[in-house]
Amino acid sequence: MPEWEAVIGIETHVELQTNSKMFCGCAVAFGEAPNTNTCPVCLALPGAIPVPNEEAIEGIVKIGTALDSTINKDSLFYRKNYFYPDLPKNYQISQYTFPVCEFGKLEIVVDGEPFVVGITRVHMEEDTGKSRHVGEDGRIHDASHSLLDFNRSGVPLVEIVTEPDIRTAEQARAYGAELQRIVRTLGVSDARLEEGSMRFDANVSVRRGPDAEFGTRTETKNVNSLRSLQRAITFEIDRQTRVLEEGGEIIQETRHWNEDKGVTISMRIKEESEDYRYFQEPDMLPLEIDEAWQQRVKAEQPELPAQKRARYVGLGTDAHTAELLADDPALGGLFDQAVQAGANAKQAGIWITQEVVAYLRREEKSLVETALSAAHVAELSEMVSAGDLSSTASKDVLNAVLAGDGTPREIAEAKDLIQISDSGFLEAEVDAVIADNTDAFEKLAGGDMKMIGFFVGQVMKRTGGKADPRLVSEMVRNKAQG
Ligand code: ADP
Ligand code: MG
Ligand code: ZN
Repeated sequence: MPEWEAVIGIETHVELQTNSKMFCGCAVAFGEAPNTNTCPVCLALPGAIPVPNEEAIEGIVKIGTALDSTINKDSLFYRKNYFYPDLPKNYQISQYTFPVCEFGKLEIVVDGEPFVVGITRVHMEEDTGKSRHVGEDGRIHDASHSLLDFNRSGVPLVEIVTEPDIRTAEQARAYGAELQRIVRTLGVSDARLEEGSMRFDANVSVRRGPDAEFGTRTETKNVNSLRSLQRAITFEIDRQTRVLEEGGEIIQETRHWNEDKGVTISMRIKEESEDYRYFQEPDMLPLEIDEAWQQRVKAEQPELPAQKRARYVGLGTDAHTAELLADDPALGGLFDQAVQAGANAKQAGIWITQEVVAYLRREEKSLVETALSAAHVAELSEMVSAGDLSSTASKDVLNAVLAGDGTPREIAEAKDLIQISDSGFLEAEVDAVIADNTDAFEKLAGGDMKMIGFFVGQVMKRTGGKADPRLVSEMVRNKAQG
């Protein structure tokens, strides 16, 4: 029988960082006193009418555009009905048919293999309030009572739903990471998993090989990091496989990831969409998104992470370095400016992602707290290309620049690290060494190229280690070949 294969689809909620809430003028703010950012609309007082937030619509169009989606010209809002104390209206305004964006895709790379995840839909909704259970451990079971804070009620929320295209926990994690980078690059959300401004639900099922029909899925919630996403999915794949191997059945249900125990736990039997009695929101007209507006959003789209990585690789960095640079706006910015100022991209990429990053970790500093500028990186690069500085010495100089000891040239001179690259002088040294070692030179001229190292070593000795070894080696080779 074919091996078990996992089928995974991810639903992601992203809280947009707009000035005001989705359907009212209340501020979107975190960590403020409970119930201070509320009004009749987000508290669901009678007669309050929702008015959509243009900034939020622009946010979702940005996300949909970055995910290569179709933007629907007319989009509809629906009521998704359910009772929960943190939902004062007893319904959430959401979307159903005709969401703002549909039919998108996102390409990710796992182990060097590109992989396309279909995006079913990207729709607009609103967040709920927050319950706080008062008791020993903040859990609902043994709480004495619960408190409600409606500051989050009505905060714009975008939901991004994938096709069941993902096959491994690693791919799911890579998808989550890339989506987070995109959302951050677009500047529409800080997308912090641990704070809940980005939240994943993982739908997982298993089946007997790629040709079998899809199995019954479970949906796991409460994954607060990319690592948890991967762990929760891995756990769920193993659990389902075991149940099926033992002749059991998978129940379609919602499960909860328990981070401490590393397990998923059954929460409730999964509701079907009919259970929510979706119907079109009577207080709102269809949302019209005009072509010009959509085109402007597209034209203003910043360079996306994948485009940036490809550009860095095109400049000469390796894929891993490109990823590190693209993931960190401060480091990427320094790299871009350094290259623009004339630095060799490959060299600059390695310095920044290795030496600079190690320095920042060691000193517990951020880049702006150091003395390093893009011009310094460019100067250092030029010194190495010109042969004034060895690449080994360049690392010491870079660390001294970071510490604020001066410019690369000043430091190299002060530390007596400038190499001799005066070819007239070096040629005389090479000739002198050859004259002293005629036997060795004959071997070299006879084709024993290993002897080059000997001659370079001799010149380095005579010059107190100051000669540019690359230049000397080239001269010795030329002499040997007559
Ligand atoms: P719901 O709101 O009921 O969770 P959605 O359509 O919003 O339904 O999301 C369903 C998610 O589950 C999608 O990401 C979809 O790709 C995924 N999915 C659907 N069927 C399966 C399956 N058999 N196995 C794994 N994932 C699935
Ligand atoms: Mg779901
Ligand atoms: Zn309000």
